[in-house]
Amino acid sequence: MTQPGDEEQPAKTREVARGVFEVFLPLPSKPTIINVWLIDCGDGWALVDTGVAREESRAAFAGALAALGVAPADVTHLLATHHHPDHFGASRAYRDEIGGRIHIHPAELERIAYTLNAGPDDMVRHSRRNGIPIPTQPTDAPKPMDVWAATFQPVTEADHLLTDGEVLQIGRRRLQVIWTPGHTPGHCCFLDLDDRLLFVGDHLLPRITPHVGVYATGPENPLGDFLASQEKVARLDARLVCPAHGGVYEDHRHRARQLIRHHEARAAEMKDVLRAGPASAYDVARRVFRWVFENPNDRFQAGAAVMETLAHLEMLRARGELRRDERDAVLFYEVR
Ligand SMILES: [Zn+2]
Repeated sequence: MTQPGDEEQPAKTREVARGVFEVFLPLPSKPTIINVWLIDCGDGWALVDTGVAREESRAAFAGALAALGVAPADVTHLLATHHHPDHFGASRAYRDEIGGRIHIHPAELERIAYTLNAGPDDMVRHSRRNGIPIPTQPTDAPKPMDVWAATFQPVTEADHLLTDGEVLQIGRRRLQVIWTPGHTPGHCCFLDLDDRLLFVGDHLLPRITPHVGVYATGPENPLGDFLASQEKVARLDARLVCPAHGGVYEDHRHRARQLIRHHEARAAEMKDVLRAGPASAYDVARRVFRWVFENPNDRFQAGAAVMETLAHLEMLRARGELRRDERDAVLFYEVR
């Protein structure tokens, strides 16, 4: 994988526990770094996530392997926390060049197939139905998705489909699969049963809350799933959390409770907005995430804010606190 001129790339790795290395890979936009995890299993290495499909990232990874004295062919297992470009975007190249066995949850393979094949029409219909005024004339504003598109070259098949609770025996390591739907439908964490390390992907980040939005194809209540997944990881016995962005930390239960409280407070704030009368997800988002809508060029962030709002509204609806009506092809939410 190394090409001429790559030698000056500084290798950025950190051993966080014996035989477990955090590898920092660059991303094209914020957050600017993703941590992938190289795990010495005695007989081969496992890699949790791959980074984006960009030369810069692949060179950094090659540099990390070289610095650790690991031959690419010794990486025998590639594990996906989830399909997003920054996490599994380079998986096709890695499988082809390194040859490791691919492990991913089936719901993530479905998302990959959808993302690679879906036209924009689905998203436009879904956005309009939730009150977003989509102009009929396309604008020239740069779209962040264009920046990401080329970075997404994922596998479309797996050697092994992950199931909740199963234990992957890789060499001397036992990694338990903890299915944590929410951020994506097939997001998985991995718990090293001997060292009590918890690899959490985007599920339990130390400083930022991962995006949880409702998309055209569902599921309908991903935030309900996400909070249930927080309760689920809070029940685990872990010593150290290894996140995809930010540094390692202790006390996963504390962080899980913070995330639950954060979203409950947001949901309560949105319910308060709706006490004034029925509104679409777009209307509610403009009130609750006012600052996001101040930059008219940032339609991507505004769209994400609406989908995040929708996730809160659908969670409240699933709990029986809101009702939903359709008027002129737009969905309106109302306090029961
Ligand atoms: Zn993600």
